[in-house]
Amino acid sequence: MYDLIVIGAGPGGYEAAAHAGRKGKKVALIERAALGGTCLNAGCIPTKTLLRSAQVLTECRGAAAFGVRIPGQAQLDLAAVVARKNRIVGMLTKGVEGLLKRARVERIQGHAELVSADTVRAGESIYKARNILLATGSRPAVPPIPGIDSPVVLDSTAILDRTEIPASLAIVGGGYIGLEFASFFAAIGAKVTVLEMLPRIAAGLDEDIAARLRQSLAKAGIDIRTSSKVAAIDGQTVQYEDPGGWRTTLRADCILNAAGRVPVVDGLGLGRVGVDFDRQGIRTSDRGRTSVPGIWACGDVTGRRLLAHAATREGIVAVENMFGGDQRVRYEAIPSVIYTHPEVASAGRTEEELRAQGIEYRKATVPMAVAGRFLVEHDGAHGVVKVLTGAKYGEILGVHALGTPASEFIVLAAAMIEMEMRAADAAELVFPHPTVSEALKSAILETIGQE
Ligand SMILES: Cc1cc2nc3c(=O)[nH]c(=O)nc-3n(C[C@H](O)[C@H](O)[C@H](O)COP(=O)(O)OP(=O)(O)OC[C@H]3O[C@@H](n4cnc5c(N)ncnc54)[C@H](O)[C@@H]3O)c2cc1C
Repeated sequence: MYDLIVIGAGPGGYEAAAHAGRKGKKVALIERAALGGTCLNAGCIPTKTLLRSAQVLTECRGAAAFGVRIPGQAQLDLAAVVARKNRIVGMLTKGVEGLLKRARVERIQGHAELVSADTVRAGESIYKARNILLATGSRPAVPPIPGIDSPVVLDSTAILDRTEIPASLAIVGGGYIGLEFASFFAAIGAKVTVLEMLPRIAAGLDEDIAARLRQSLAKAGIDIRTSSKVAAIDGQTVQYEDPGGWRTTLRADCILNAAGRVPVVDGLGLGRVGVDFDRQGIRTSDRGRTSVPGIWACGDVTGRRLLAHAATREGIVAVENMFGGDQRVRYEAIPSVIYTHPEVASAGRTEEELRAQGIEYRKATVPMAVAGRFLVEHDGAHGVVKVLTGAKYGEILGVHALGTPASEFIVLAAAMIEMEMRAADAAELVFPHPTVSEALKSAILETIGQE
């Protein structure tokens, strides 16, 4: 009898298994594919590796602005970029293997399914546990568009191993996955068009920041068409309804389906055991419980926040609670980043959410260029930091930033939100100089009239 069986070795599952193992619990981790899940093999790490190469290329091409002359034109070797990506994934997989070994987690390879609330089958073997954590993740959604299964259409996993730069790329979906690939392929020379069915890109992101991101991406040559619903794909031709309701066609060498993700619940035996789930995923409480006592869930399969660090936190909270603790995931303070160029980072509530919730707020939006470091690091780049605080007490409710490296300081904003810090208290923090994070401080000061 195990104390815990974890199904799925993504950042939700492997971190939770290691956490329980380090507590001295008897843990098994069942994975049917590779250690590391989507994040390590087909998500966060591979995409950021590609984006980094694109950034190096862009920097080389723009080096003259920094007084650096590079004779000839810098070229990108996509096969070498993909090989580097695979090397990094390999190194990190070894790291996860080591982590699990040190935590004495038993690894089982195979597809797992629930037999009952305390029993799991993997292959021919049956395992029993006091607790089961479902961390089976998500996979690309395939919308019901005729022709989407054509070989020209790649999903976010298949496109990672493409070693030829397409002359043109049509991306179905203007969410963060589609936009990151748009940023990458545009930077390396493809003509990129993004087709988004909603009137805006990056749904869920603060609307004003999303509009600014759209402008920046358009400046980088990306053709973004919103209110454009893809109706059919015929070979290399995408047919879509444009904002006026007209059927329009777009031809592209390569088409990327980035139309969202769906939870991986098939063949898991949820119905048999009575675990409550719907199209979004397995229903969980903020403490990681499912509808069946002893069965817990974390990560993308819950459909709550499709982010690796959210999966990890949810897994750890579930482990804490199954062994006598009482923790909850504070969803309101989970930061998120879109690693486009420029990148976007946010934590807390958006203006639209505050308005919908009837919360009175103050806001300050400052250009990142108020921080000397931003001017030093970039030439002609655009960036802003927006801070939203409660009108009465000045507590920090949301921070939204466009500009690189917003991802590096957003955790500070998340900590302020998590600790319910007031702008007046945050104003007493000392920010290192010169850093781009000083723009955050300026925006905070502006909300209390000190700037
Ligand atoms: C292109 C892309 C880029 C992304 N970039 C970022 C980013 O920059 N930052 C970020 O935070 N997030 C990013 N994400 C999201 C991130 O990858 C996911 O949120 C994260 O991987 C979810 O972790 P998880 O543990 O819930 O599931 P997963 O990582 O999906 O892992 C689930 C694992 O469960 C296994 N499994 C499923 N069913 C079974 C079964 N029945 N038996 C055994 N094993 C099973 C699967 O094989 C898989 O290995 C990105 C995603 C994509 C697609």
